[in-house]
Amino acid sequence: MGWIAHKFGGSSLADADCFRRVAAIVVGGPDEPTAVVVSAMGGLTNHLFALIDAAVAGKDLAAPLAAIRNRQATAAEALLGGPQARPFLEVVDRDIADIRQVLGKQQPGHPVTRALQDRISGYGELWSAQLMTAFLQKEQGAAAARFIDARDVIVIDQGEMGPIVLWEESRRRCRERLSGSKTRFHVITGYIATDRSGQATTLGRNGSDFSASIMAALLGAREVIIWTDVDGVMSADPRLVPEARVIDQLSYNEAMELAYFGAKVIHPQTMAPAVDDGIGIRIRNTFNPKHPGSLIAATSSQQGSIVKGVSAFDGIALVNLEGAGMIGVPGTADRLFGALRDAGISVMLISQGSSEHSICFAVRADAAATVKRVVEDAFAVELEQGQVQRVEVTPDSAILAVVGDGMSGLPGSAGRFFRTLGNSGINVRAIAQGASERNISAVIAARDMTRALRAVHSSFYLSSKTVSIGIIGPGSVGGVLVDQIAAASARLKDKFDLDLRVRAIGTSRKMCLGQARLDLKDWRQALASGETMDLDRFVNHAQADYLPHTVLIDCTANQGIADRYLDWLGRGIHVITPNKRAHSGPIDVYRRLRSTAQAANTHFLYEATVGAGLPVISTLKDLVETGDDIERISGIFSGTLAYLFNVFDGSRRFSDIVREAKERGYTEPDPRDDLSGMDVARKAVILAREAGLSLELRDIAVESLVPGALAGAAVGEFLDRLADFDAPMVGRLEKARAAQAVLRYVADIDCRRGTASVGLQQFPLDHPFANISLTDNIVQFVTRRYSANPLIVRGPGAGPDVTAAGIFADLLRLCSMLSGSDD
Ligand code: ADP
Ligand code: ASP
Ligand code: MG
Repeated sequence: MGWIAHKFGGSSLADADCFRRVAAIVVGGPDEPTAVVVSAMGGLTNHLFALIDAAVAGKDLAAPLAAIRNRQATAAEALLGGPQARPFLEVVDRDIADIRQVLGKQQPGHPVTRALQDRISGYGELWSAQLMTAFLQKEQGAAAARFIDARDVIVIDQGEMGPIVLWEESRRRCRERLSGSKTRFHVITGYIATDRSGQATTLGRNGSDFSASIMAALLGAREVIIWTDVDGVMSADPRLVPEARVIDQLSYNEAMELAYFGAKVIHPQTMAPAVDDGIGIRIRNTFNPKHPGSLIAATSSQQGSIVKGVSAFDGIALVNLEGAGMIGVPGTADRLFGALRDAGISVMLISQGSSEHSICFAVRADAAATVKRVVEDAFAVELEQGQVQRVEVTPDSAILAVVGDGMSGLPGSAGRFFRTLGNSGINVRAIAQGASERNISAVIAARDMTRALRAVHSSFYLSSKTVSIGIIGPGSVGGVLVDQIAAASARLKDKFDLDLRVRAIGTSRKMCLGQARLDLKDWRQALASGETMDLDRFVNHAQADYLPHTVLIDCTANQGIADRYLDWLGRGIHVITPNKRAHSGPIDVYRRLRSTAQAANTHFLYEATVGAGLPVISTLKDLVETGDDIERISGIFSGTLAYLFNVFDGSRRFSDIVREAKERGYTEPDPRDDLSGMDVARKAVILAREAGLSLELRDIAVESLVPGALAGAAVGEFLDRLADFDAPMVGRLEKARAAQAVLRYVADIDCRRGTASVGLQQFPLDHPFANISLTDNIVQFVTRRYSANPLIVRGPGAGPDVTAAGIFADLLRLCSMLSGSDD
């Protein structure tokens, strides 16, 4: 019968509950000989190393030792019950006495030997394996489980590049102890091994993965399952890149490279024993056993991104050896790396320019001082004679690597990698690409590491049209917008690979923030129970550096929010808004917004500021950009005023119509905001500027329909007293009637003369402005091309649905501007 091997990492063995979960997983597996390789309880190995450090520092060990014992005792009692836990605790007490005794002999200030370090740091695995054995025996019967001390099986030499397995001897021992075993579960210690002299040793930090694949090879297992606390090998470290996703299948080589360059989920040497026998390695989540995990095998699946993963680690120093005297001199590299090898230094990455003028390489930061000395010694003569100018060490560096078999022979990955770093303003200190083209690595400043990792990950894994969206002011219009986005987003993703992620929604008082995205089904509730609004935090959250683009949509009419646009546009955030404040404010602010957006390559879209969802601004933009000359723009830009003069036919008093319109919600809460004409004037300023005029709001002649005497009155009083002013309005209506005309409140921009006015005018009955219904807006463009027969845009110009749709259309317009701009 075949063997199966499992390995449970420290994160899967944190406490008694974890042990139960692990037992359930192995017991639930097929009934076949099973190797269960276990790590120390999570964090315990660190505590044992800390204990050694404490002894070297001459500190008292009683308290940390008691804490270590206590953790074992708590788990054992919970799993085995008092009396049954006793034999195990006797073992623990004996081991703790051993630790106390050997560390007690430690001279403070003296370094500990590797042998002692290995002996003490390996106790965690011994305890985990014995406790798991006892628990499986209790649950499944004494004959079901056996404890195996890996020091009786795995024999290694400690080589310069890490442990070397002595396969023949290990195989012999394995046969002796395990072949023909009738037991189902063999609980084996990870991490520890023995050397050929019989001394206890270890496979190095994180080495239990390696133990498991060695055991799998020794036992001829068909598969080794490495159980941890994530769903599999992910496209990047999920702690640093929230967007990381599980890789279904990867090759041994890909896994090895990712691990070598920092993917802590698996030890880089784990793959080696599995390769020869083609043993599949599966990475799975103890806490989510339903997930199939990642399969590491001989071949990798080529679906999805050509890059499988991005990994990084810091704690690197870059060393540069530079000198004109090295050009064309054979053997320089050999001397350099020979000297480093003799000093036991491992080199992580090498890069040499073809001019041979310099060689640079990366080493662990803690070796940097030694390396500098070793290299200076090796080239002492050349340094003195000036053939080698200097040995330069750049500390605080990190290595970033993209890995994927699919990159081989496919042009473009390196280009994208470096372009992304460049676009993110990250300086590359050195570059290396293996001839296998499976990995491209770059040395960067350590402080840039997370940012670089996120940017590179997003450029390979996310749609370039992934947009992080923050919506401010989800009132009647903003709220409908959120619902419209929610309803359309699946279709947009499917059809156009558009990934619209509403990640922040906020009012002036509250906000709710979502990591990947907010669940838009319940956003109103989430907002109601959200946290207190903090606009800075809101904006920082919306602009996640692991997502390619950010847009803030301001659905307020607030000046304070509009005042922020400059900052947002300058820091790379696109802005979309129906808020007229910024565009109709002082022209120098308007100009600064435009130039800032241009410099920062951001977009500012505001279609819904005029005519709600009607394509007014975009039509005007198209006319201007295609070289037409705008002569005149006129129209009805206020749905409220359109309604009032559509209804006002003399049969009812104007003041009654105003009151009724207010009651129906057609006006602002204070109808004077509409009647004053200022809203129309702002829209006129926006259009005038769009057409190239330098108009200020104050330059516009505005006819207000608010009687001067009522300007300061309270709203109720204003409505009551408006009737006193009905007579002049009737007079104007009659005058229009006599001329076969109607009254319309319009804006009129004369682009030739650079003037604009807003007010009540008469129009003949056959004029387009005379024939609108209800709250329609209408805009007429007279241009060189549309001269005798002007271009007209007409339709409902108010209401939450159409206004939200206008904003949404801006969002889609923005997305089409973004696609392709970054890759
Ligand atoms: P164990 O205790 O099971 O050995 P480790 O803590 O050693 O677990 O490794 C698992 C952790 O590795 C994950 O929790 C994750 O945070 C981290 N990690 C780093 N890079 C990756 C990656 N590319 N894919 C998955 N996990 C990663
Ligand atoms: N317990 C060891 C460590 O923490 C080995 C392992 O967990 O893989 O490094
Ligand atoms: Mg691990």
